[in-house]
Amino acid sequence: MTPSDALADAVPGAPSDQAPRTPLVRIRGVNKHFGGVQVLHDVDLDVHSGEVVAVIGPSGSGKSTLCRCVNRLETISSGTIEVGGVPLPAEGRALSKLRAEAGMVFQSFNLFAHLTVLQNITLAPVKVRGVAKAEAQERGRRLLARVGLADKADAHPAQLSGGQQQRVAIARALAMEPSVLLCDEPTSALDPEMIQEVLDVLAELAAEGMTMIVVTHEMGFARKVADRVVFMDAGRILTSAPPAEFFADPGHERAADFLSKVL
Ligand code: ADP
Ligand code: MG
Repeated sequence: MTPSDALADAVPGAPSDQAPRTPLVRIRGVNKHFGGVQVLHDVDLDVHSGEVVAVIGPSGSGKSTLCRCVNRLETISSGTIEVGGVPLPAEGRALSKLRAEAGMVFQSFNLFAHLTVLQNITLAPVKVRGVAKAEAQERGRRLLARVGLADKADAHPAQLSGGQQQRVAIARALAMEPSVLLCDEPTSALDPEMIQEVLDVLAELAAEGMTMIVVTHEMGFARKVADRVVFMDAGRILTSAPPAEFFADPGHERAADFLSKVL
């Protein structure tokens, strides 16, 4: 077994020797309007298997909208988005399959309050994927262990800290075996002392080869964990560069201005 085989075993969607070099996520010429307002302008972005892309930029620049378009929580006005070489479907069964390909972690966790932690994690695999309940529970417990919450399976979300809830949300997203994980400001709603435990889980996933798009204001995370930093402003991607390059020279006045405010 080669190291990349081991990776492919560890994480669904991790690169393998056989993986074609077409990007896992391919975004081309995407425009998005809300009513008369254009919030994404001609967005192009490729994310390859195993790559971690940090998306940064000021509030209102379109970062969440871009994530939501990739996950098809929003429709696009024009352009194309492909995940795994397959263009985003319009509706129906293919859509729930696509949602399974792209797992989403939200700023506000979005756990179901009336369900236990384990029920939160097993709900979609059982209902959407048709996974047998016992198998979903076994995998759910493994995922909980992986995010450091093996002892919380029967707790309800309200009994957990914000950091714990977000780690459950990550486990829930992984339970669908997504090929790409979309994280939209996963630590922005957390108290400062809980931010690191969530970033640590994401860094571990990255190290295991998970493909991720992470919208974040945590520049330390972007610098250390991301393979590429994408800077958005007013609905456009202005720069896309490896972190060492980006932080040494943001390459655009607006990016430099943004960095001077957050660093
Ligand atoms: P960011 O995540 O970078 O803060 P968003 O993607 O949330 O930016 O928002 C980009 C722009 O789109 C903002 O001007 C926002 O007000 C607008 N917007 C986002 N969602 C909607 C919506 N559902 N309806 C109308 N406008 C929206
Ligand atoms: Mg946002």
